[in-house]
Amino acid sequence: MVEKIEYKSPNKKVEGQKKYLIQSFGCQMNERDAESLSGILEDLGYIPTDAQEEADIIILNTCCVRETAESKVYGLLGRLRKLKVAKPDLILGVCGCMPQQEDVAKKIRHNFPFVDLIFGTHNVHELPRMIHQVQENHEAVLEVWATEKGIVENVPVRRKDKLKAWVTIMYGCNNFCTYCIVPYVRGRERSRKPEDIIKEIQDLVQEGYKEVTLLGQNVNSYGKDMDVNYRFADLLLDLDKIEGLERIRFMTSHPRDFDQRLIDVIASAKKVCEHFHLPAQAGSNRILKLMNRGYTREQYLDLIQRIKSAVPNASITADLMVGFPGETEEDFADTLDLVKRVRYDSAFTFVYNIRTGTPAAKMEQVAEEVKSERIQRLIELQNKISYENNRQEEGKVFEVLVEGETKNNPDLLAGRTRTNKLVVFQGPIELTGKLVQVKITKGRLNLLEGELVLNGTND
Ligand code: SAM
Ligand code: SF4
Repeated sequence: MVEKIEYKSPNKKVEGQKKYLIQSFGCQMNERDAESLSGILEDLGYIPTDAQEEADIIILNTCCVRETAESKVYGLLGRLRKLKVAKPDLILGVCGCMPQQEDVAKKIRHNFPFVDLIFGTHNVHELPRMIHQVQENHEAVLEVWATEKGIVENVPVRRKDKLKAWVTIMYGCNNFCTYCIVPYVRGRERSRKPEDIIKEIQDLVQEGYKEVTLLGQNVNSYGKDMDVNYRFADLLLDLDKIEGLERIRFMTSHPRDFDQRLIDVIASAKKVCEHFHLPAQAGSNRILKLMNRGYTREQYLDLIQRIKSAVPNASITADLMVGFPGETEEDFADTLDLVKRVRYDSAFTFVYNIRTGTPAAKMEQVAEEVKSERIQRLIELQNKISYENNRQEEGKVFEVLVEGETKNNPDLLAGRTRTNKLVVFQGPIELTGKLVQVKITKGRLNLLEGELVLNGTND
């Protein structure tokens, strides 16, 4: 069982109207970390701003899963140089997954010496002390903890949304898929105590939140590191009892650890939504083995079959990758075949990208033009299926949690089905935050159009 550390709010706050800006890259876990960074800074007395020129502290919360995310950070740092010259008191920080790699932290230090603060994924809670150090000593602070020291509870949070909240249930990953950098920068799996998670969600419901998404790199191995026999299915059962909470989502699940008990619990728990994000990555057994995914295509397809029979209206989505080292045309055809068999509602599709330090980086690489051509074919197939699946929803009635006006048209409301599909329809803004019934009139590629069903009836 990992040590629990209680966050201590610093006594000394910043003076005057100091402003902060956080720019976050990457996955939901990072978005959630950015909410903690905001919470810590607001607790210190900073107020938010969207304008770089107004900010007294700018923090880039970085991602290193793919090269594009890293390049964006370097580009942004280059542009921020001017601002730092014009405003020397500005504190510029870089944190998250990128500095967690020693060579990258050194590169940032060397190429961007004007950065004041470099820290990693394990010492976010030390931010107030590090800011104080920069201000007092007028010199840069580079502090990256090589390993995790425990789970920090009661860190202040400034959440972006008022209706839906992300709740981290575990940190780290033990899987070491051969292409992935995450286990090296996020450490080993650590589960938060069930009572801390339950309390956090009860408090969120008190504040008016209707939906929570439980976050972890592999949520279905939740609890395996604890010295009590309490697993992800037990947590779902306990959360399902929380009065006032409407919806429970979770991501990401690893197909290898998705057992029958979990399927049965999801089928029976009222608040757990019928959406299964199950990254397959590839459809070829040879590639799955090289990736160290721990399942075969047959086991994956069997899992999908068992989910579909226990939860007939389930929506299945996935992460898929093309161009993993050694992927032949035949292997890729297996991925296309898997997509045709599962018929995902949608998928995040990725081109394999070398990550230094991972085993796959040393394997024989696939040519870039082959990868580009394969990703086009994969996207084309998935788009066709997504569109066909959405057309199949026409005429059906769904429960929709209304999130507010659509971005582009204030006359339309937007919300999501339990299966996580985006629905747009006409209705009064007062419906925001409510669960309504919507009849689908048109299925499009990325959303459903519908009309409000009055009095909860179907016509
Ligand atoms: N833990 C989750 C899982 O295993 O499904 C996913 C976490 S990872 C941050 C999100 C996705 O990024 C992965 O599912 C994978 O498809 C993709 N990814 C990870 N490493 C990658 C790499 N080196 N190149 C391209 N895509 C990668
Ligand atoms: Fe990366 Fe695999 Fe862990 Fe997901 S399960 S974070 S892909 S190592």
